[in-house]
Amino acid sequence: MTDHKNTDKKAHYHKVRMQRKKAQIDASMARADGEKGLLLVITGNGKGKSTSAFGMVARALGHGMKVGVCQFIKSRTDTGEEAFFGTHQNCEWHVLGDGFTWDTQDRDGDIKTSKKGWQIATQMLADPSYDLVILDELTYLLSYEYLDKDEVLNTISHKPEMQHVVVTGRSAIAELREMADTVSEIKDEKHAYTSGIKAQQGIDF
Ligand code: ATP
Ligand code: MG
Repeated sequence: MTDHKNTDKKAHYHKVRMQRKKAQIDASMARADGEKGLLLVITGNGKGKSTSAFGMVARALGHGMKVGVCQFIKSRTDTGEEAFFGTHQNCEWHVLGDGFTWDTQDRDGDIKTSKKGWQIATQMLADPSYDLVILDELTYLLSYEYLDKDEVLNTISHKPEMQHVVVTGRSAIAELREMADTVSEIKDEKHAYTSGIKAQQGIDF
């Protein structure tokens, strides 16, 4: 067969395959026509959980939506995300931690701080004017039992109907995963830190 004929044949098979694919995609899109406020859980050991949440903050703000961000555990207020989003008039940003648990080494203090932070989150989760609420690193407050699990799950489950909520952090508990509409487990394949590279501005903070 000549090269020319071969190319024609390939183009023909490609077209047939794409037509079939389009029919499948159209059918699946026609099925997915529901709308509601979602609970998303971004968990796992790989890098990209909080930054995924901040990507959704950018999307929501771009659509003129109101966003609330609660950052648990961490205490640094010099991150690029806070500098960028914190000044946006539709974005309310709260850093609610005292630092990593291995730095504070103070369970009672961490519990007190977590409860105070959770009150701010609770207000957002009861206020339909927030279209998107980010609960960054909330998973640790549940896995370390700093907060009452039932109270947290109950508050999230009673959020306004159209409000989206994103929870990030490693080791999300099973009940939270079950409740969620979307769960992503980010796998750690490799990370620059393990080859001796410190946290990089613009990438890690
Ligand atoms: P990011 O905020 O970059 O999306 P993350 O939310 O997925 O990261 P965290 O557990 O919150 O991860 O940790 C935040 C910091 O730790 C970031 O500097 C990130 O690059 C780093 N980090 C995340 N995953 C790993 C890993 N598997 N090994 C080493 N460092 C990591
Ligand atoms: Mg994170």
